Amino acid sequence: MREENCIFCKIANGDIGAATVYEDDDFRVILDLGPASKGHALILPKKHYRDICEADERVMSRLFSLAAKIGAAMKKGLGATGFNVVQNNGTSAGQTVFHLHVHVIPRYENGPAMVTWEPGSPAEGELEQTAKVLRAELM
Ligand code: AMP
Ligand code: ZN
Repeated sequence: MREENCIFCKIANGDIGAATVYEDDDFRVILDLGPASKGHALILPKKHYRDICEADERVMSRLFSLAAKIGAAMKKGLGATGFNVVQNNGTSAGQTVFHLHVHVIPRYENGPAMVTWEPGSPAEGELEQTAKVLRAELM
């Protein structure tokens, strides 16, 4: 379950070097080459999945607990005061490497704002209408 020409398959399986902070049978966690802050880490499954819609239950069920473990290490070891867990699916969502990965981004007191958006103002009834569409999909 590896994809040829996938940079994260190569890194996760040790064919290309990266600053590794954790490794087990299913995952390698590395430092991002273009960090949003000091310690910005990427959790890479060793198997190739394009995004979370493709990943199997075993991988999915471990991702969040691993992110928590990495985040706790950032607080203890790097003096981070918080951390963001970010995961992009699809080009419009900012995904640039199409091998599932989770960003764990440490935050520091007085550091830059990193994961922000402008809150919208939905029209009357819009939220309920949108929820109805999604409920139908999820049935
Ligand atoms: P995304 O935009 O969610 O697909 O994130 C891709 C991330 O991978 C970016 O933050 C890049 O800086 C990072 N990145 C790309 N190539 C490498 C690499 N060879 N080693 C470490 N991080 C990388
Ligand atoms: Zn891959």
